[in-house]
Amino acid sequence: MSSRKSWVDFRLKERKVGDLPSGGDPLWALVYPQGYEVGMANLGVHSVYRALRERGVAAERFFKSPFPDISVENDRPISDFRLLTASVVYEPDMTSLLSMLKKWRIPATWIEREEKDSPILGVGGGISYINPLGLSKYADFIALGDGEEIFDHLVDAVRDFFRHHGNRRRLWETLAENASFFVPPIHLEQLVKGRPLSRKKSICLDLSAAAGKSTWITPRSVFPDSFLVETQRGCYRKCPFCTIPACFGPPRTRPKDLVLKDIDAAKEYGALRLGIIAPESGDYPWISDVIATVRQQDISVSFASLRLDSLTPEMLEVLSQSGQRTLTVAPETGDDELRKKCGKPFTQELIIEKLKLAREKGITKTKMYFMLGLPNETVEHILETARFISLVRRETGLKTVASFSIFVPKPQTPWQDNEFSSLETIETKTRLLRKNLLKTGTSGVELRFPSYREADEEYNLAWCLADSDLVFTRKKKARHDTILVKRQLELLGFQRNIPDRGEGV
Ligand code: SF4
Repeated sequence: MSSRKSWVDFRLKERKVGDLPSGGDPLWALVYPQGYEVGMANLGVHSVYRALRERGVAAERFFKSPFPDISVENDRPISDFRLLTASVVYEPDMTSLLSMLKKWRIPATWIEREEKDSPILGVGGGISYINPLGLSKYADFIALGDGEEIFDHLVDAVRDFFRHHGNRRRLWETLAENASFFVPPIHLEQLVKGRPLSRKKSICLDLSAAAGKSTWITPRSVFPDSFLVETQRGCYRKCPFCTIPACFGPPRTRPKDLVLKDIDAAKEYGALRLGIIAPESGDYPWISDVIATVRQQDISVSFASLRLDSLTPEMLEVLSQSGQRTLTVAPETGDDELRKKCGKPFTQELIIEKLKLAREKGITKTKMYFMLGLPNETVEHILETARFISLVRRETGLKTVASFSIFVPKPQTPWQDNEFSSLETIETKTRLLRKNLLKTGTSGVELRFPSYREADEEYNLAWCLADSDLVFTRKKKARHDTILVKRQLELLGFQRNIPDRGEGV
């Protein structure tokens, strides 16, 4: 990396997919509150940039590292920008965004920014589908849901804002005309007083309208040299802990011809690998055509997620031929009954059968994700998980990584009313696991345990009320009122029950 503070080395390594207009107006900072490598593996970042550039906007990217103060495109300082929009995908991104604002000396709240005539801050991304209330003290506006159908309104409103000498109230009011914008300066007071807002997530039901592919290919990505191709949004499965079926709209697929055309073109764009992006790759109805095209193209492939019960020998073969030696799976627990309650009705037997098959196809290691603190989890469930991990190692011969996270109940999910475990409970369960794994055998098994502090922060941020502070300290604890959060989400316009076709989700 160059010692000079510049993105030049990164720019030189980026290969653009297709032509996009350069220049344009207005100048618009796209902020991703994580590092460049993580952001470049996020298809949402690619899609938002593409959508804005196609509309003639001078969008420039900012990442938290390595050079947060200047744009990737032109090394332009953040102080040149009057408009910032940030992708907030996971809960920790919320506080990360605040720390970027602090570093930039931009006031965090929309009230302070109005007083000081500081830049406008808009937010979109994953959090907007689950619980956008926590950002209501900070963002001038929050785009709810998918971007495809609201970009035009957003760009028109922003251009109008600049034409009218940065009249913020005018921008807020124009944005609020579209039901898929939650505009705290206009809406917050009503929400806190308990008045319904009838906001509505924008859900793009026709994915042929989505870009569905990378804008750049770069070696400096969590998915290096990969061309990302989207196949599906939403999920057919109904895992009760998961936000995808509960918050992100109904399952919808990108047309087969578009997906296959993109795969065909990946090498021309200079990709060494394909990354198939879907909440559950194996559920794509044309997955066998995808695999056949990958083979024809003789290109490596990885799947963003794979569910054990939809894993086929063809998928394992193509992964192995791609040089992949680790298979990542998520049994959630070792206990078959509890796993079934998690929405994963497959047995230990099936898991071991699939992992043995994976080994035959050339996979040498499995990484298994488990959760601790699941609803109604007992000591016996924990002991069964310990036994199961040893069994996998013994029966399959695969090197085994057992990675644990802590169950965090999320708003709008069927398990939203379950408890978040105390530190004491998690420590007891962790000790029990370690002790029993030692008994059942840990040779060739690597155990990874979660940080309680991080899970606790995730829980606090996931259940933020409207107008709350996002900075919690030991003295200043988060205010837990999940009943009120649910009520406020209803007032916002988010419904609990997801209809079959994206209305009112
Ligand atoms: S299969 Fe995966 S994405 Fe789908 S609901 Fe279950 S956990 Fe969520």
